Amino acid sequence: MKKSDGTMDKLVSLCKRRGYIFQSSEIYGGINSCYDYGPLGVELKRNIKDLWWNAMTRDRDDIEGLDTSILMHPKVWHTSGHVEGFTDPLVDCKKCKSRYRSDDIDTEACPKCGGELTEARKFNLMFKTFMGPVEEDASIVYLRPETAQGIYVNFVNVVNTARRKIPFGIAQIGKAFRNEITPGNFIFRTREFEQMEMQYFVHPSEDEKWMEHWKEERFKWYEKIGLNKNKLRFHEHSKDELAHYAKAAVDIEYEFPFGWQELEGVHNRTDFDLSRHQAESNKKMSYFDESLGSRYIPYIIETSAGCDRTILSVLTDAYDEEEERVVMRLNPSVAPIKVAVFPLVNKDGMPEKARKIYDDLRKNIKTFYDTGGAIGRRYRRQDEIGTPFAITVDSDTMEDDTVTLRYRDSMKQERYPVDNIKNVLKDKLELK
Ligand code: ATP
Repeated sequence: MKKSDGTMDKLVSLCKRRGYIFQSSEIYGGINSCYDYGPLGVELKRNIKDLWWNAMTRDRDDIEGLDTSILMHPKVWHTSGHVEGFTDPLVDCKKCKSRYRSDDIDTEACPKCGGELTEARKFNLMFKTFMGPVEEDASIVYLRPETAQGIYVNFVNVVNTARRKIPFGIAQIGKAFRNEITPGNFIFRTREFEQMEMQYFVHPSEDEKWMEHWKEERFKWYEKIGLNKNKLRFHEHSKDELAHYAKAAVDIEYEFPFGWQELEGVHNRTDFDLSRHQAESNKKMSYFDESLGSRYIPYIIETSAGCDRTILSVLTDAYDEEEERVVMRLNPSVAPIKVAVFPLVNKDGMPEKARKIYDDLRKNIKTFYDTGGAIGRRYRRQDEIGTPFAITVDSDTMEDDTVTLRYRDSMKQERYPVDNIKNVLKDKLELK
């Protein structure tokens, strides 16, 4: 793993200072690897989830949505293999007590101090809790470590109620929990995180075709939300890297300041999950294919993305420093605020005029109004949080009813008539 070049520290501090992301429970000293999204962060997150949801469900006609519960019957996790096998190998340094995932390190001795390491122990990553008032083994439930199982156990419900024919998919966005041994790198690896997962059900003979399709689709989505293409790549899993359920797997990776890391996994899970659930629940999980006149258990192509990791990639990709300013070159589709409206000075009718423009814009476009401080400072503040456009009302506005439109990236300014500015912005933001 590459050492950070300082970008991460600057980003963490900007996120806190400007209200993107806060340490959780900070007044009590914080809790390791838990974060809260602030006023800007929550907008960014919502935009990313909406872009994903639209790309996966509304812009297509072959994927249904679902929202399943975090707590599920414990048998789900026995059947899926998580109780038995969702483990990481844990080693401790006997000297400095540092803790590692043994598959993360390639040395025999502690990478920090050279000390001797303990034997690797298997550590299950699922969080356990108790259902009901009695804390006994019979009432153990797990916080889901992935959203996928909620989709599998509802496969037949969705086929029957949505009257779907194979191939089709089911998409879900939701929280997942993993008691990671080594969380870190800000929101890259946390113990509570949000997944955006889609399971696509196909005839077993078509798995490879759909695997290719989803690989390409998902890669393009990251380009569409603005990530630099040169910082994205595929990583195909070799046979010995494959998870127990997978026939093939490819990660979409992004080059973070701390190295190339997984953003999303695209997996061919075969009929593993549905077959297992059918065997353990004694409920039919197969599908009757009218066009073929036969019944089979479909194969599943899964696309499993981390929302928080996507946010981190978007933020690190956008972060840029110039001599005079820090600028977040966020793609307008993800930017929490799309446009800021400023009166040049706080008098001569300008605030009233600017306020009117703001009130009109904010009905359709996330807009911010700011009267405080020198205009240059106001521009810089918006540059730093990634607002792509700013509108300024000045003395000319009061004469000819035109305003300045300033571009965050080029800092160029153009004038437009007030009564046309909303359409201009809608155009630039590609809004309908
Ligand atoms: P890793 O090897 O990084 O632990 P994984 O291969 O176990 O990840 P998957 O089980 O395929 O990950 O999960 C799908 C996606 O969920 C990942 O690509 C990632 O974006 C996200 N994800 C997984 N674990 C975490 C975590 N601890 N924090 C944030 N996001 C996560």
